[in-house]
Order: sequence, then structure tokens, then C-alpha cells
Amino acid sequence: MIVAIDGGVATGKSAVGRRVAEALGLPFVDTGLMYRAVALAALERRIDVADGAALTALAHGLKVTTEGRRVWLDGEEVTDRVYEPRISEVVSRVAKIAGVRLAMVAQQRAVARGGVVMAGRDIGTVVFPDADHKFFLTASVDERVRRRAAQLAARGEVADTDAMATEVTARDRMDSQRTVAPLRAAEDALVVDTDAFDLEGVVAEVLRRVRG
Ligand code: C5P
Repeated sequence: MIVAIDGGVATGKSAVGRRVAEALGLPFVDTGLMYRAVALAALERRIDVADGAALTALAHGLKVTTEGRRVWLDGEEVTDRVYEPRISEVVSRVAKIAGVRLAMVAQQRAVARGGVVMAGRDIGTVVFPDADHKFFLTASVDERVRRRAAQLAARGEVADTDAMATEVTARDRMDSQRTVAPLRAAEDALVVDTDAFDLEGVVAEVLRRVRG
């Protein structure tokens, strides 16, 4: 069984996907981690993120593995580095390159053989157009910023909410406007507006649909 969960920045895809996968006894793959890992490799190897040919060659030579929230680049764990602001700033520029996407989509399809819950931007439209179940999560910018700030507060950190709102909007705009595999809901996806629900509510709704 393949369950696709797509949506914009900080709409809860990974948190929901992780719990849904656990309930269904399936592995969970967060494809955002994979694009973040490629962006990290590009920065560390000083590859210009405007150089599509170089990024394509890089992505085809990398093995990116994930497990839950963790991610490895050619066997080296890079989980701690992929959420640095310098990565969030450039990841959408890396992810819009067709060759980068081809390389990642091939790896995504390969890991999904025995069934999967996969979260991203193009899972229902491009990676698995025939997925058994497709969901597209939405949330207002205010709500997404509020959730992020609450997560930071729980870790004792103070959030710059204006900067967060700017990042959420800019990344979604870039991901929606790119030519290859733009962020959008598949025609047969169930759109879930999560503003009115807490995490458990969204998980329950997804599971209710999947279990029919
Ligand atoms: O999900 P997350 O916000 O970590 O994803 C980081 C970036 O990776 C997105 O802003 C997008 O540019 C890219 N991405 C993508 N396709 C996916 C998943 C993520 O283009 N399936």
C-alpha cells in the first residue's frame, strides 16, 4: 500500500505521516530530508546552487538514505545539519533542478517497494501517481508559524515569527512556481485543511480514509 502525503512548508506532513505509518505498520519516508541532504552536499562541496548541470551530476552520484527523522549521505549521518537555516535558504533552488529530482525520485521509488507512507510535494502527482491514498495538507501561514514557534518554545528557544512567516511564504512560492513537479494537490487527493484540527485529529482523519 502506498500513502502519499503532500503539502507546503510546515503543514504537518512529517508528523502526520510518521504516526500514520506507525499505525499502519508501514515505513515512513520524508522526502524533504532527501532534498535537504542534496543541498547540504552542494554547499559543503562548494557547488554553485545556480549550476543545474553540476547539481544534477552531484545528485546522481549520491546515495541518500532516510529512516524516520534521520538522514544519511553516502552512509554518513547528516541529520543534525539539514535543518540549518543555510540549507532552508537554498533547498528550493536545488530541488527545482530536473536532474536532481530524477535522481531522488528513482531512490524514492526504490525504497517504496514493500509499501510506504511518503511525505513531500510531488508524491501524489509525480512519484506515485497511482498511490492508493493521496492527501494534501494545508494550513494558514499564521497557524504554521504558531506551530513552529511552539516547537521552538518547547526546546527553550525564542522564535523570530516575522522571519518564519517570510520563509514559509517564500519557499512555498518557489516550490509552487517551478516548472518541474511543482507543489500542488493531485486531482484525486483529499485536501485536508489542518487549521481546525490538532495533530491527532488530522491523523485520525487520514486513518479513517485509509481504512475506509
Ligand atoms: O519538507 P521540507 O520543508 O523539509 O522540504 C524542503 C524542501 O525540499 C522543499 O521546500 C522543496 O523545495 C523540496 N522538496 C521537494 N519535493 C519533495 C519534498 C521536498 O521539492 N517531494
